[in-house]
Amino acid sequence: MGRVALVTGGTRGIGRCISETLKANGYRVAANYFGNVEAARQFTEETGIPAYRWDVSNYAECETSVQKITQDLGPIEILVNNAGITRDATLHRMSYQMWEEVIHTNLTSCFNLARLMIESMRERGFGRIVNIGSINGQAGQYGQVNYAAAKSGIHGFTKALAQEGAAKNITVNAIAPGYVDTEMVRAVPPAVLEKIIAKIPVGRLGRADDIARGVMFLIADNADFITGSTMSINGGQHMY
Ligand code: NDP
Repeated sequence: MGRVALVTGGTRGIGRCISETLKANGYRVAANYFGNVEAARQFTEETGIPAYRWDVSNYAECETSVQKITQDLGPIEILVNNAGITRDATLHRMSYQMWEEVIHTNLTSCFNLARLMIESMRERGFGRIVNIGSINGQAGQYGQVNYAAAKSGIHGFTKALAQEGAAKNITVNAIAPGYVDTEMVRAVPPAVLEKIIAKIPVGRLGRADDIARGVMFLIADNADFITGSTMSINGGQHMY
């Protein structure tokens, strides 16, 4: 039987593509979501992948849900921390709530889930963790101090945990996507998007599949020498 994988925010956008790609490659997948119940229902109907509803920023909810998935599918050996939100504004217009929501959903969630799985991964002597960062965590972005800080934090979290996991065959890597054609990016005003695309050397937005391919590469059983790295998948927009 295939290894069990959890993809947070796994029912829409990039996460949905990661969930489907994992399933197509023999993994047993649990997809998490939070707000969009209809999208999750449709996702499960179309893919046959079970969807679990909880808020990844809430430690207690993560704990209950990890237990439930473990009961349903078995111990989770692959964790893809993909769930993320934006609450954009320049700092002088940003409320504390906008800061807190983004930091907790995008960054604290990585702590919550990795913390809840690390002991089992250590005992089993196997684990693959992939954290989805962002080009905007590498380069910064106007109007996104909250998002850039959270995503930049993911890159530091990845490198520190990679050192701790290495001796137990637990690899921890990050992917920093550039602009990928999902609802998150479709929310950007068209004029701004046009300017963004003009700065991407390959001349197009990324596709969810471009990111899913990176995840597959990093979680392979024989990818055990790749840890603590950040894979930039951005069409050449930012070389880090
Ligand atoms: P989407 O907005 O399309 O999907 C976000 C997913 O995260 C949804 O499944 C959503 O669930 C889930 N989610 C949001 N908040 C929570 C929460 N509190 N608890 C559990 N699940 C939650 O985003 P993308 O697919 O575009 O982005 C995926 C990841 O990639 C994010 O981390 C994003 O920051 C990152 N990224 C995206 C880029 C892009 O260009 N699209 C560029 C760089 C990074 P629900 O469906 O229930 O709302």
